[in-house]
Amino acid sequence: MNKSEILKEFSSDPDRYYKVKLFEEQGFARKSCSKCGRFFWAIDPNRSTCPDDSDDTYSFIDNPPTSKRFDYTQAWQQVEDFFVKNNHTSVSRYPVVCRWRDDLYFTIASIVDFQRVMGSKVVFEFPSNPLVVPQTCLRFKDLENVGVTGRHFSSFCMIGQHSIPNEDGYWKDECVDLDFRLLTQQFGIPKEEVVFVEDVWAGGGSFGSSLEYFVRGLELGNAVFTEFQGELGKHTVLDQKIIDMGAGLERFAWITMGTPTAYDCCFGPITNHLFEKIGIDSDSKMLSNYFTAIAKNLETVDDLNEVRRRAVKAANLTEQQLAKIITPLEGMYLIADHLRTLIFAISDGALPSNVGGGYNLRVMLRRIIGTMDRMELKLDIDELVDMHIDYLKDTYPELDSKREDVKTILKIEGKRYEESKSRMGKIADKLIEKKREPTVDELITLYESDGVTPDYLRELNIISEIPSSFYAKLSDLHQSDKKASVAQLPLEGLPETDMLFYKDDPMEFEAKVLKVFDNNVVLDRTSFYARGGGQEPDYGTIDGHKVIDVNKHADVVVHTLEGGAPKQDQTVKCVVDATRRSNITKNHTSTHILNSSARGVLGSWVWQHSAFKEADHARLDITHHSSLSEQEVQSIEKAANDIVEKNMQVSIQNYDRGTAEQKYGFRIYQGGVVPVKSVRIVSIEDFDVEACGGTHVQKTKDVDLIKITRTKRIQDGVVRLEFVSGPTAQDYVKKLQAQKEKQQADASAKAERDKIRDQKKEKNREKMPELLEQITALSGMTTIDDIEIDAEGPGRLCFTASDQYDEYFHINFGKKLIKEDPTSVYCGIFESGPTVRVIVYAGEQAPKGKNAGTIAREISSILGGSGGGDAKFAQGGGKDTSKKDEAIAKAKSMVLGIVKFYG
Ligand SMILES: [Zn+2]
Ligand SMILES: [Zn+2]
Repeated sequence: MNKSEILKEFSSDPDRYYKVKLFEEQGFARKSCSKCGRFFWAIDPNRSTCPDDSDDTYSFIDNPPTSKRFDYTQAWQQVEDFFVKNNHTSVSRYPVVCRWRDDLYFTIASIVDFQRVMGSKVVFEFPSNPLVVPQTCLRFKDLENVGVTGRHFSSFCMIGQHSIPNEDGYWKDECVDLDFRLLTQQFGIPKEEVVFVEDVWAGGGSFGSSLEYFVRGLELGNAVFTEFQGELGKHTVLDQKIIDMGAGLERFAWITMGTPTAYDCCFGPITNHLFEKIGIDSDSKMLSNYFTAIAKNLETVDDLNEVRRRAVKAANLTEQQLAKIITPLEGMYLIADHLRTLIFAISDGALPSNVGGGYNLRVMLRRIIGTMDRMELKLDIDELVDMHIDYLKDTYPELDSKREDVKTILKIEGKRYEESKSRMGKIADKLIEKKREPTVDELITLYESDGVTPDYLRELNIISEIPSSFYAKLSDLHQSDKKASVAQLPLEGLPETDMLFYKDDPMEFEAKVLKVFDNNVVLDRTSFYARGGGQEPDYGTIDGHKVIDVNKHADVVVHTLEGGAPKQDQTVKCVVDATRRSNITKNHTSTHILNSSARGVLGSWVWQHSAFKEADHARLDITHHSSLSEQEVQSIEKAANDIVEKNMQVSIQNYDRGTAEQKYGFRIYQGGVVPVKSVRIVSIEDFDVEACGGTHVQKTKDVDLIKITRTKRIQDGVVRLEFVSGPTAQDYVKKLQAQKEKQQADASAKAERDKIRDQKKEKNREKMPELLEQITALSGMTTIDDIEIDAEGPGRLCFTASDQYDEYFHINFGKKLIKEDPTSVYCGIFESGPTVRVIVYAGEQAPKGKNAGTIAREISSILGGSGGGDAKFAQGGGKDTSKKDEAIAKAKSMVLGIVKFYG
């Protein structure tokens, strides 16, 4: 929709769209800016330009228009007091991780709190009317501006003032009146300073007029009156008109404090703490001049690096002042801002990672560490986290209990970054060789595939500046990959299927066939659970045909059959495979039990990432920073089985979505977004409460037993738990037991065999003198007790690889043999532990070429090892037992064989 066309249309009838009672009462006149033509409303008769084009732009720096001074938390108290005494309900902020919308990772505006997506429509659900909310919003598009411009934040508090015009709420007149009184009465801003600019808002198929309000060129808020839907000209009035007034709390503080930047009055004691660390005086006039120039240039110049250069010139800064004061200041503000955002995000369950919304969090932590490194700042992050939370907890008490979790995650993630630095160093070296600055796309690839941040490259002087489009492009890439596509089926005009699995859930039932297409059947009612929420479908039969798949399309259940299908309008008998269903159901309840058990054992950042429940196996993927240790797995399994043992009640209740959210919080969205107005809450007493459409047992003991079979870190920030429950878990335990028993039996059988052999070896030692006598008396070729003897030619050649002889035997027997008969050669091969060994003796008068050292080395090398010794006595061996036969054959030929040839 073209915004400028709508603005033209609305501004052509200002009485209808913009004029409110207040303007008349207070004597506001409507004017057109002498520079840009925009229409605005002001009391001051001398004002001829809009706030963007006025000379007083940002003149509040160093000279605030109020006598009262409020920092960030005090400013919220003022806002809250004002709206509460004017009949608004003050609502606590919603999580910054937007669990209730699947097209957003993070909450980006206060109105998002109350938007719920139903199909292609956005509906509004307000917990009360009218209301005000201090909504923390995360926006990553302007990351390179943060710390530099004096007014950009990666997260900020949007004061949300929302109203539906009905018996409780109000419309334009009262809204603008309230906002004007908030500024003038509550904050003490003179009436003449307030300027309203005509604008429009359009998005999500609806649009309306809006009035932005400014003081000294600073936009404090924007009151949007969402009123119409459709295309301009053909538009209609919405059933539910809505006031969406969003104002920046940081700016309210700034306008009363008049500090050089908004950062100076919004981070509590952190700013002074950091000022002291780097030794800068925050009150300097020079800073006011510089940041005023930054603010003014930002309105007219797009490129931030150019804005910075112009401000340096305007404020007459030397290179040295820039390097010694401005650059460290920017770093300091960045650290304070990014850390505050990480505290909110991690407290609300987000983890830094390289996927989805976790990306931006990782970028921010790396920028913090990179900045600290660059500035050679030694900061205690834990201390800064405490300072932030201590300051914020009056407005956001929920942060208090999460501080240790935040510190844990920051520590792990910081360590990971340090570990990745050497790899990044190598990549940086390669870039230096190229002698060319990487393009924005190359920078994005470097970041995405190697985790190399542009800040790091700037530190190393590989790039001179971070391209102003980098962070916007990066955040675009990871904004909306949350969607899935839907298949088109001929289901037009079919009524909603009566889902019996949510009612009395019969395993046998009759139903009428409403439609048959391909091998798919739609019934008027069904007890076959349709695949959903990670729960696999039921199997069974419809009219004797096998059901092989069941899916839900909107409210229509489609059964896929195998081997034929019934006819339309027929009444059919249906049977659900009850055993399969029972096993899947046990696995589903177990998933809930394991999820909460894992959170209890590991930390508050654990959320269900996804889950899969089949009849004989299941898996639960949870958000967690590292692989699980054996100890952690055991603790989770034990905690889960304790819940099973306690036999807790599993209850299912339907709630209005808003009521459920208020009652249980957003923890209920473990399985993702629920696109219906009434949510089905499955609770295991107060241990686990989730919005879930699956089938469940009635009491936890019905699950019988939960066994985790395997865990694996499947992606950055996600760990998979594979598990079984019920009869499958019992089978698994039996199988494990049987395996263990078999291993034990195998081990004892081997021990028995070893014992017998050892006894034999023992005996053979005793046999040694007798054997020696026999062998030395021999002539010709023969084998005695597994020892092959060739005494036909020159020398007495003996070889054995029998396992009845050990090292002791070979050493002693060989030695004695060559002493008795110096023409003898003796070689024994045997296994000893994991190696195959060889021992060789050659007597003083052994045949030519029979060298103990040569034989031992050759055999050892076949076995992958080495041998040593001299011509008379040598030994060796190797670990490659697969070469044992080859080694034996070779040894045999070296000891027994060749002699004949020479003989
Ligand atoms: Zn203008
Ligand atoms: Zn569930």
